[in-house]
Amino acid sequence: MSKWRFLEEKVQSLKDQGVYRELPVNHGPCDHVIDLDGRRVVNLSSNNYLGFATHPRVINAAKEAVDAYGAGAGAVRTIVGNQDLIGRLEELLAEFKEEEAVITFQSGFNCNIGTIQAISGKGDLLVSDELNHASIIDGVRLSKADKAVYRHADVDDLERVLKEKRADYNNVFILTDGVFSMDGDIAPLPEIVALARRYDALTYVDDAHGSGVLGRSGRGTVDHFDLHGDVDFIVGTLSKAIGVVGGYVATKQTVKDWLLHRGRPLLFSTALPPAATAATIESVKMLMESEEHTEKLWANARYFKRSLEKLGFDTGISRTPITPVMIGDEAKTLRFSKALLEAGVFVSGIVYPTVPEGTGRLRAMISASHTKDDLDQAIEAFKETGKALDVI
Ligand SMILES: *Cc1c(COP(=O)(O)O)cnc(C)c1O
Repeated sequence: MSKWRFLEEKVQSLKDQGVYRELPVNHGPCDHVIDLDGRRVVNLSSNNYLGFATHPRVINAAKEAVDAYGAGAGAVRTIVGNQDLIGRLEELLAEFKEEEAVITFQSGFNCNIGTIQAISGKGDLLVSDELNHASIIDGVRLSKADKAVYRHADVDDLERVLKEKRADYNNVFILTDGVFSMDGDIAPLPEIVALARRYDALTYVDDAHGSGVLGRSGRGTVDHFDLHGDVDFIVGTLSKAIGVVGGYVATKQTVKDWLLHRGRPLLFSTALPPAATAATIESVKMLMESEEHTEKLWANARYFKRSLEKLGFDTGISRTPITPVMIGDEAKTLRFSKALLEAGVFVSGIVYPTVPEGTGRLRAMISASHTKDDLDQAIEAFKETGKALDVI
């Protein structure tokens, strides 16, 4: 009997449940139209909100950095991996975010797991929205602090937790995504900040889907609500709208000083490659120079969403360019996604257990890089499929 039996059985059980999947292969850049498994399709499934992943200025910055700095950083930051580009990026990001200091990590995921466990400890409480991202959940698991969960975006339930537990702990942290990726809704930050003040708690916002999207020129959810100075830890990713890879937390200098000594991904994992750091610097510069990129994103998002709503589709509670198209039934959702693919449009179907049972949806991610033709082709495909499957 194979010693791998214990995993073979698990994989087989995925197959038996019909949830085993092959990864689609993209044979080129993550552009508005991609070659997916040999089929040219309109790409409505990337987080490349601003098209920066394929922008000539960003690509050139990466190329120049490879010539000047090599392919890899060669070490963790605390040894010799701290190339000057990283410091330049952090200063630029702090200026862009209008916060005291920024510390970067190798990804948004790393940033959350490294930061949450470093800032909290025994005797503290981490209070988390039930729909927070997996990297927050893992960060909470790695911390020695206690945890509590409140109902999604429900400030009354959050207050219930604070009222019940505040007195038993030293520091209390309220953790939330800024924008929730499955529905595209925005966290009620003004109310959360008010509760944090009343109950003497710290606020931690993971703005992976808000950075480069919401606020002035993509300065994020905190800027969108004009809450500068009121959120203690603002996490962002450089992998989505910014178009490259990396994560960061915008915060106080003291927090940065501490994370440089106790942020485990910084101490034990190699620094960002120079091509990524330099490309990111260029992306942030582009946002600081002009709002044209975010304006194009929002114009595309409004056009797409309005067109689907006019056809009779339910686009849920989204307030961002994330456009869920609610279908309900799981099998029908997957059939819809497959029919769209056959019509040359790739939109992933999202079903239980990623979202609650019976709330299957297609999740269309709109980008500034989409042309009107791309969006019209997608809208037409939605219309035909929606009629064929009795959704509209
Ligand atoms: C995508 C995402 C992350 C992870 O960011 P990466 O840079 O891709 O590692 C973290 N938090 C949230 C809310 C996200 O949506």
